[in-house]
Amino acid sequence: MKRIVILGAGESGTGAAVLAKKQGLEVFVSDLSEIKPEYKSMLDNYGIVWEEKQHTEIKILNSNEVIKSPGIPDKAPIIKKLYALGTSVISEIEFAGRYTQAKMICITGSNGKTTTTMLLYHILKNAGLNVGLAGNVGQSLALQVANQSYNYFVVELSSFQLDGMTKFKADIAILLNITPDHLDRYDYNFQNYVDSKFRITQNQSSEDAFIFWENDPVIKAELEKRKIQSTLYPFAIERTEKTKAFIQHDDLIIKILKTIFTMPSSDLALQGMHNTYNSMAAGLAASIVNVRKESIRQSLQDFQGVEHRLEYVATVRNIRFINDSKATNVNSCWYALQSMKTPVVLILGGTDKGNNYAEIEDLVRRNVKGLVFMGLDNKALHKFFDGKIAKIADVQSMEDAVKNAYIMADAGDTVLLSPCCASFDIFQNYEDRGKKFKNCVRNL
Ligand code: ADP
Repeated sequence: MKRIVILGAGESGTGAAVLAKKQGLEVFVSDLSEIKPEYKSMLDNYGIVWEEKQHTEIKILNSNEVIKSPGIPDKAPIIKKLYALGTSVISEIEFAGRYTQAKMICITGSNGKTTTTMLLYHILKNAGLNVGLAGNVGQSLALQVANQSYNYFVVELSSFQLDGMTKFKADIAILLNITPDHLDRYDYNFQNYVDSKFRITQNQSSEDAFIFWENDPVIKAELEKRKIQSTLYPFAIERTEKTKAFIQHDDLIIKILKTIFTMPSSDLALQGMHNTYNSMAAGLAASIVNVRKESIRQSLQDFQGVEHRLEYVATVRNIRFINDSKATNVNSCWYALQSMKTPVVLILGGTDKGNNYAEIEDLVRRNVKGLVFMGLDNKALHKFFDGKIAKIADVQSMEDAVKNAYIMADAGDTVLLSPCCASFDIFQNYEDRGKKFKNCVRNL
């Protein structure tokens, strides 16, 4: 019997274990950390053998194939040993893809993945399609393949998931943008990260669709180098002869073959330039699977947005508070600043991933009256911003961040939490950071 070993028993690992078991494979799950109780009981319910807080090598190195959690880097000793043995190491998505005939609509990019994934899922679900939501959001793809029978999946894919994919094919692939992120996992070589993102198009033929941002300089350069077989669906604000979704006279237009979809961009639920791109990408994918125009229009209009992404929190003494805790890199902060219509006090900082703040310098100089650095180590921020902005405060807790920002702001201003950094120095994760922000604002 084929022996599958699963490393990492989080959402994706546990789902993969259940699917493997249901497929009649011999399964062993190993996690170097403690496994969450709900996952332990799921594994037990299916009679799956597992271990935690260790990797017992003799039980792992004898496997035919290993499914690795996207959180485990290639440099981990156990992975290096598996590679040395020539064992196939794949991601949960690659594995799950083998056992379903559902159409796969996959979304990647450096920023906007979750927003676009949720938006597209909303459109397809409202249109009455039998569709599942998977990847980085919600339940794992593997668990849903094991327990449901969907016709479509909308799947959010990180570069780490894409790294473990070789045979999987997206019927519709969306690549929103590529800017430097996670370089620590790619030997500080940007091209490695770009290659990983472009795996979203692998195995596609002309029957399949590739939706992408036409003006992204990295994607553009890459398309010149590569022979992509897929049918191309570029989107952009300004139209060229190839563009399939664009803005004309303030209308969002999607033009595929002879059909034209149009709606006023002011009716879009998600405002801001970056969100217009996300709406275009989702609208294109929905048009390709033949959702009725009226239905797409309705869903683009009534989508509620996603927590921690430019989320409005409250207005206190005429100061607006916006939670953009998910802005964990400089580029997403740029889009947040760019969409602000008032002067801003910006709260930023955390675990710096080698950030280059030059990208937001102009917007900060133009529109930011105060900066609150929230992190255990704010040296990199000081090095860049000192002398450029008059008001700067250092804080090490969310309470102090909100208090200081509130003092710096005047009536009519916006306090924006858009940190450019990961949150792990002070918080559990970006959700924890965003929730604490909202609580502190509500306690003002
Ligand atoms: P991801 O899942 O790729 O991290 P999210 O949808 O969670 O993306 O959004 C992350 C951050 O990026 C948020 O701060 C959001 O405002 C910003 N953002 C959303 N869409 C885009 C886009 N198309 N381009 C740049 N930034 C974006």
